[in-house]
Amino acid sequence: MNSSNCIFCKIVAGDIPCHKLYEDDKVLAFLDVGPLSRGHCLVIPKAHHETLDELPDDLAAACASVLPRLSRAVKSATGVKDWNILQNNGRLSGQAVDHVHFHIIPRVADDGLGFRWPAGKLENQDAATLIKAITSAL
Ligand code: 5GP
Ligand code: ZN
Repeated sequence: MNSSNCIFCKIVAGDIPCHKLYEDDKVLAFLDVGPLSRGHCLVIPKAHHETLDELPDDLAAACASVLPRLSRAVKSATGVKDWNILQNNGRLSGQAVDHVHFHIIPRVADDGLGFRWPAGKLENQDAATLIKAITSAL
């Protein structure tokens, strides 16, 4: 998928309508058309980048700076106190639209949402290996 056939690029360009919540020169936020809960919305960089690791720092910062403010507004508007920020990268993660986006998903009791979280145990030896590999790749 590239910017010419990307649904979010079409929304940014105004070729497809959206329920817009916020816009600046780098960022657009709008209601998710298939909400997991009332108030579910998306924050995207206007420029087409498929996954978070491909996002330049300035656009990452621009998106991140909108998340707390929009979260406050969604909380205020819906009365919901709890919410998730979700950001999927790649098919295995659940990413369906290949244009970076951050979900804001309000949570209420018994909403049926959730994650399988089968926590393992971090072993010291693997932690040392990981620290070496990750920090040298930073
Ligand atoms: P992903 O699974 O890629 O993290 O999430 C993609 C999200 O985009 C889904 O929640 C889906 O409902 C939403 N979405 C897909 N197409 C459109 C659209 O045309 N308009 C809006 N507003 N949301 C969309
Ligand atoms: Zn795009």
